Amino acid sequence: MNMHDSERVLGLLSKRGYIPVDDPKEADLILLNTCSIREKAEQKFLSTLGRLKHLKNKRSDLKIGVLGCIAQQSGDKLRERAPYVDYVIGPQNIGRVGEALDFEEGVFTEDNLEIALSEIPAYRESSVTAWVNIMYGCNNFCSYCIVPYTRGRERSRPASSIVREVEELIQQGYKEVTLLGQNVNSYNGDVTFPELLRMLNRIKGLERVRFVTSHPKDLGPELVRVMAESEKVCEHIHLPLQSGSDRVLKLMNRKYTLSEYMEKIGMLRDAMPDIAITSDIIAGFPTETEKDHQATLNALKEIEFDGIFAFKYSKRPYTRASTMDGQLPEEVKSERLTEILRLQDEITEKKNQKLKATVQEVLVEGKNDNGQYTGRTRTNKIVNFVSEGEINPGSLVKVLITEAHRHSLEGKTL
Ligand code: SAH
Ligand code: SF4
Repeated sequence: MNMHDSERVLGLLSKRGYIPVDDPKEADLILLNTCSIREKAEQKFLSTLGRLKHLKNKRSDLKIGVLGCIAQQSGDKLRERAPYVDYVIGPQNIGRVGEALDFEEGVFTEDNLEIALSEIPAYRESSVTAWVNIMYGCNNFCSYCIVPYTRGRERSRPASSIVREVEELIQQGYKEVTLLGQNVNSYNGDVTFPELLRMLNRIKGLERVRFVTSHPKDLGPELVRVMAESEKVCEHIHLPLQSGSDRVLKLMNRKYTLSEYMEKIGMLRDAMPDIAITSDIIAGFPTETEKDHQATLNALKEIEFDGIFAFKYSKRPYTRASTMDGQLPEEVKSERLTEILRLQDEITEKKNQKLKATVQEVLVEGKNDNGQYTGRTRTNKIVNFVSEGEINPGSLVKVLITEAHRHSLEGKTL
């Protein structure tokens, strides 16, 4: 979501004649698009911002802006702490970046009720795959999460505007879109999310549709059916579990139990036996016991995700979990995270090994640093491969998988 926000800010700026430069010393304007999902992201931002201070001391005409969730969270306070920051612009107001630059300085952090109606051009890095926003904000208030406080309430973009953007992308040569939202299956534009997928599936020239992220509580049989029936909708879902303990899930306010989650996994695998399922896990939520942690490990063993993102629980401002008793020491969180990652690494590797000697459809994105072609399977696995003939980015090719690693597959064209 943040990377696409950056693409859209670049889109707005390029309309105003700005061009990106590689070296901050050459820039007239430096914008930092920030994330505050975990404390570590915030620390990284603060050290980067600190480094910009002497650039500003050397060149008073340099403008510095902070965008994203830290901007939203800190508002005016950020400029008190770092007076060399000229603009503070929250994620709901990135459409106003151009307007902001007409002022010497300013803080733009109001709630933007119109966000889903704004059409902001994007300056995309890839020419094959594109992110497309379908909804903004989140209403779920998982007890650990800052997103509902920084990105505001859920607002869905009208389906006609989404279809128009995708059609324009196809005209520009794009082959794949990834629909973006904090919780895409609660999309509530003029149609439902499964209906939106059906509409996109009818667009000529579009090869693949993906979406992130889905919330398990909103995943129902209709979405599973549409995924299975729509040939453009890829067989991959990112479905964050967060914990394998019902007690912790309840404290997290996730609104499902492990067995309800497993039922949904069963439904997906029944309809699409080759589907790849990935997930997010939080290690060391307040009050998490060794038994809760073991429940998470057991769930990982039983489900066998294709991959996970796992994080140590991080205390975030405003959130309910940040005031809970039973915050765990860093060492406990780190140990549990290591165990989770080690177990999942084995599972991921085992799952990838099973793909050896199979033939996969790969959407070619370009070449990697080793000169091999690179692209992804429908199940979102990276494939690096060789080919005797030249292949253009955007082509769909059949690749025989010859090697499997944890984070990628290797192969050759047939
Ligand atoms: N809306 C998406 C993703 C939101 S953030 C969803 O609900 O799935 C991505 C991931 O960051 C979450 O799934 C969660 O695992 C993790 N996360 C969010 N807040 C966190 C926190 N305070 N500490 C650790 N991980 C967190
Ligand atoms: Fe955060 Fe939960 Fe909303 Fe995801 S669904 S953004 S984890 S509050």
